[in-house]
Amino acid sequence: MNQELVERLLPGLTHDVEYYEKLYPKRNLEETSIVTRYAPSPTGFVHLGNLFMLSIARKMARQTKGIVFMRIEDTDQERLVENGISKIIEAVKEFGFTFDEGPISENEEIGNYGPYIQSKRKEIYQTYAKELLLKGLAYPDFTTKEELDMIRSEQEKSKRRIGYYGKWARSRFLSEEEIIKNLDEGKPYIIRLRNNGDFNHKIVVMDAIRGKLELPEDDIDQVLIKNDGLPTYHFAHVIDDHLMRTTHVIRGDEWLSSLPIHINLFKILGFEIPTYAHFSPLNKKDGNTIRKLSKRKDPELAVSYYHEMGIPSEALMLYLATVTNSNFEEWYLAHENEDIDNFTMSFNKVGISGTIFDMEKLLNISKNILSRITAQEMYQKTLEWAKKYDEAFAGILEKNCDIAIKTFNIERNSEKPRKDFAMFSEVKNNIFYMFNELFINKDYEWQKISDIEEIKKILSTYLNKYYDEKDSEEVWFNKMKEMCDELGYASNMKEYKQNPSQFKGNVADVSTVIRVALTTKSRTPNLYDIMQILGLETIKGRFNLVNE
Ligand code: GLU
Repeated sequence: MNQELVERLLPGLTHDVEYYEKLYPKRNLEETSIVTRYAPSPTGFVHLGNLFMLSIARKMARQTKGIVFMRIEDTDQERLVENGISKIIEAVKEFGFTFDEGPISENEEIGNYGPYIQSKRKEIYQTYAKELLLKGLAYPDFTTKEELDMIRSEQEKSKRRIGYYGKWARSRFLSEEEIIKNLDEGKPYIIRLRNNGDFNHKIVVMDAIRGKLELPEDDIDQVLIKNDGLPTYHFAHVIDDHLMRTTHVIRGDEWLSSLPIHINLFKILGFEIPTYAHFSPLNKKDGNTIRKLSKRKDPELAVSYYHEMGIPSEALMLYLATVTNSNFEEWYLAHENEDIDNFTMSFNKVGISGTIFDMEKLLNISKNILSRITAQEMYQKTLEWAKKYDEAFAGILEKNCDIAIKTFNIERNSEKPRKDFAMFSEVKNNIFYMFNELFINKDYEWQKISDIEEIKKILSTYLNKYYDEKDSEEVWFNKMKEMCDELGYASNMKEYKQNPSQFKGNVADVSTVIRVALTTKSRTPNLYDIMQILGLETIKGRFNLVNE
């Protein structure tokens, strides 16, 4: 097509393709270094699947001394939401992700291969489309929606493959005069590829995860530039990943069916084809069926869910690592105290059937992590979470900092640390009884001894004769036993088991009365420690509440 007409179709371009090829040179990295990217669309919703892809992309780049960059794919202007870019940046930052290159706020970015926001790269895409027009490998298409519908129904009637290809691609055959006439009439147009592909010919692609794929060659005259001047995903992907010198495209397998389009475009443009790694989606077990996680049904698909519940990001990252590589778990068990960055991931250890997302496993990982941090850290993290999601609780934690830390410390440094927190959102319910402000629930979980008069008797005897704050744990326990002897309960479990009918109950039943009176709960961490932290005044107050 002649230069003048091409410039009329895509006006105002100041550079040519050589300019961009020079501006974004091949990266100076080791032969085996992986350059990959995280390419979200700013729809305001950060998907667990995205995070999964991102954790893989970052890991692969790190372990090969490569580069991972973020590119915002906002060419579908209808799907954009306000502050979509900052929302993504914030969400991934909370998981400790940083990028070597990419946007760092709505208006700032780092790296030499930008802009990293597709809507700011309009000129670049158009320049490459212009080149294709000049070479006769692209053309303007003025077909209206009604005309496209007609083509489609004709294809359906004659049982032909649906699509804009071959003789069906009518605008291919427009003469320059007809194009000029349409332009003069102000008809809207898009730019399409003039595709000479053969659908009956098979192309072979090696996917890093799936191995050898044989796919039909693409023969559709794909849309390159839309009516708003922006590219389609297909065109933008090929131009960007070429100019940003991506070596590996790590993405979800929903793109597998478009792979022939991309391979074809890379070939036509004369670009080197990157390695593709297509990941299966995250699935969920729903009763007896396994299905894809769905935005509508599964709140856990949104990354914001983990922040709201207060599931630590390390736990989610560790969990994602376990589902990514089949040999990760074995490695982790042998290297529990090592940084997971030391694990070497490989594409061929990635499963190709969909991964099942197992919340219970994630929560177990989380419990392990939270049981290993210090009480001080547990306090800080809980407070940070509460400041965002439960201000009243944050106030209580700040006011009772000492009590909270001591409580988190109970049984923490033992050989078998307590594993009672999987998320920060459950801290309040688990230890509310340590704070007078929260002790309003009097739903006592009395156990064997449930007669209120007997309970009152035990509590008053204990307080008046047997409890002394200054006692060591051993003395404290011996005194509990002495009280049992006085009140007719077995202080020795063995004796009790031999002759249960001789006693009203045993020392465990009696200490449960004290535990429940203080906490309402029949199961808590070490009672002695709880009592030490609560202190005499609070203990008296709690016993009085039972008496009321
Ligand atoms: N913007 C695409 C998406 O969000 C990215 C696909 C890709 O990584 O190429 O699905």
